[in-house]
Amino acid sequence: MKIAFLGLGAIGRPMASHIAAKGFPLTVWNRTAERAEQFARETGATHAATPANAARDADVVITCFPESRHVAALLDGPDGLLAGMRADTTLVDCTSGDPATSRAIAARLASASISYIDAPVSGGVAGAEKGALTAMVGGEAAVLERVRPVLDTFAQKIVHCGGVGAGDAVKAVNNAFLAVHILSTAEGLATLAKAGVDPKVALDVINASSGRSNTSMNLFPERVLTRAFPRTFRLALLEKDIGIAAEIARDLRVPAPMTQLAADLFRIARGELGEIADHVEAVKMVEQWAGVEIA
Ligand code: NDP
Repeated sequence: MKIAFLGLGAIGRPMASHIAAKGFPLTVWNRTAERAEQFARETGATHAATPANAARDADVVITCFPESRHVAALLDGPDGLLAGMRADTTLVDCTSGDPATSRAIAARLASASISYIDAPVSGGVAGAEKGALTAMVGGEAAVLERVRPVLDTFAQKIVHCGGVGAGDAVKAVNNAFLAVHILSTAEGLATLAKAGVDPKVALDVINASSGRSNTSMNLFPERVLTRAFPRTFRLALLEKDIGIAAEIARDLRVPAPMTQLAADLFRIARGELGEIADHVEAVKMVEQWAGVEIA
């Protein structure tokens, strides 16, 4: 099975490395060509100058971009994916995308007899480096089975969630939980710090109690208390994800005031902290409001 991988960002790059390491013939394309050239030098993959050229011989094309609209924008034109992809091949979109755009992309591809699944991932850059991501898949089960050997190279757990867009929806809601946990944990620990409780002591209690989460158990001890704030997952991308979750709820007329509020707060944080900040840096906004550092 020949693979093309487009989008060698923070998470795409380690995912593509596993595909190359498992011996699949791999061609890569990236907007900033030097990144794809360097990847090709390091892994033995082939570097293509355009999406069409990357896709030309591929049985499976994998995309991993910030948003679904970036994938949609790569379909058309002489250099676009549709100019290169053959009938009876598959596009696997690992972007944490939005269901409506994924369904529109799937319909465009179907008219060229190309299959589509959305397959966003969770587990972060560390999980990607270990090949231990979780992939949540929307689309036909038979299509997933065809491409499963490729997903197996970087995902430890693969879950079929439903039709096209179902993977995106699960990913958006999962990340809405993450956003809420970051804000609520920051508010709680800022309050306790002001009340004179050492945040380490507070987390020791909370992480043995019912208020704990991955955020309190891992993110705060490793990234906030240490003031390390490593940049692994951009705050702008989490703002995008929680915005998708809020939009899905609105479209389905599900009252979701907590999701909406967290989406608005992350929009403010993105405006204040910028496009490069890590998602956990939203804590700094809460600290500034409280006038205290969680350390
Ligand atoms: P990055 O911002 O690190 O990388 C984005 C990639 O998309 C780069 O290859 C970039 O190219 C390319 N790109 C950006 N804009 C465009 C454009 N307009 N046209 C073409 N290419 C473009 O993102 P991540 O790798 O972190 O995230 C990718 C997806 O995975 C997102 O949907 C994110 O939400 C999701 N995700 C990320 C996780 C993480 O921990 N980082 C965890 C789970 C999911 P260039 O090199 O030229 O900038």
